[in-house]
Amino acid sequence: MQAVVYRGPRDLRLETLPVPRIGPNELLVKVAVCGVCPTDIKKMHYGTVPPPRVFGHETAGTIVRTGARVRGFAVGDRVALHHHIPCMHCHFCRHQAFAQCLTYKRTGITAGFEPAGGGYAEYVRVLPFVFPGVIKIPARNTFQEGAMLEPVNTVLKGIRRLNLLPGDNVLVVGVGPIGLMFTRLLALEKMRVLASDLFPSRLRLAKKLGAKVLLQANDPKFAEAVRRSTGKQGLDAAIICAPVDAAVQQAQELVNGAGKILLFAHTKRGAKMPIDLAAICADEKDLIGSYSADVTLQKEVARLVFSGRMPVRELITHRFSLAQTAAAVDLAAQPTPDSLKVVVDQTLSGR
Ligand SMILES: [Zn+2]
Ligand SMILES: [Zn+2]
Repeated sequence: MQAVVYRGPRDLRLETLPVPRIGPNELLVKVAVCGVCPTDIKKMHYGTVPPPRVFGHETAGTIVRTGARVRGFAVGDRVALHHHIPCMHCHFCRHQAFAQCLTYKRTGITAGFEPAGGGYAEYVRVLPFVFPGVIKIPARNTFQEGAMLEPVNTVLKGIRRLNLLPGDNVLVVGVGPIGLMFTRLLALEKMRVLASDLFPSRLRLAKKLGAKVLLQANDPKFAEAVRRSTGKQGLDAAIICAPVDAAVQQAQELVNGAGKILLFAHTKRGAKMPIDLAAICADEKDLIGSYSADVTLQKEVARLVFSGRMPVRELITHRFSLAQTAAAVDLAAQPTPDSLKVVVDQTLSGR
C-alpha cells in the first residue's frame, strides 16, 4: 500500500509499505479522509519524536477486515477513529484528566512502525484498546464529517473546562478552524462570542457561525473595543487559539475577576512570559490549559457533527490526495487568508 512516511524533520516520503496484518481482536480500516492536525505538524517539523512513523490521527474510513474474535463491527462499516483512549480507572482517569493517563498516551492505530495514527496511509490497523473510540458514521454523513469528530471533541472538552454560563462574554482569539469550532459550540450554548483574527475572511465566517462581535486582532484600540462591546458585564473568559504570548497577557488584563483564560495552542515547550501572579491569586483569574480529547464527550460530539449543528463542511477548505500529503502539511502549517482545515482525502481521484 501507499503510505506517507515521516523520515525526519520536514521529510515526508510517499513509500510502499505492506498492508498491516491484523490480529484476532483487531480491525483493518481503509482510510478515506484524514485531517491535518497542528499537533502532528509540530512533531513533523521539529522532530520531537524519532522517525520512521506514519502520522495522521483525524481518520475516517471503512472497515475492510475484522479479526476472528471481533464483535460489534463488520466489514463495510464506515467509521471515525480515535487513536487515544484512556483506561478509565487509573489515578488520572478518576480525576477526569484523561490526557495524562498512561494508556491514553499510547496510540492504538498504526499503518506500520511505532504507532502514530497512520491516517496518511491507505490502510490502518486498529488495536482493541481504542475500540471504545470507534464511531460508526451514519449513512447520510460524510467521511469528512467523521474525520472532524476528534478536533471538535478537543474543542468541546476545552469549553467544559471553563464552566461558563449562558450569556457570558467569551473572547475567542484566533478563528482558524479550531477558533471557529469554539465560536460555534459556544454560540450553541448561548454564550456571547467576541471573535478576533487578522484575516477578515475568517471573521466573516465567525459571524456566520454565531460570533456577535468581530475584532481585528491588530487593531491598536483592541482592548478598548473589547471593553466597549462587553459593557458593564465585562469579559468572562478568553480562549487563546493561537500561540501568541502577548494575547495571553492581554487576556489576563481584559477578563473580569474570577474570569478564565484557556490556553489551547501553546503546545511548544519552553515558552515563558511574565504574568501578574496577583491577578491569579487575588483577582481569581484562572489560567487553564486543555489538551487533546475526552472520550466521555464523544457521543455528544458525534450528535453535534452528524446533525449538522456543528457544521464542518465550510471549515474544510482544502483537500489533497495522499501523494500530496507534504503539500497539505505545508499549507496547514502556513495558513493563507482563504485556508482553514486541510485534509488528505483519498476518495479524490487523480489529483
Ligand atoms: Zn488532532
Ligand atoms: Zn487512566
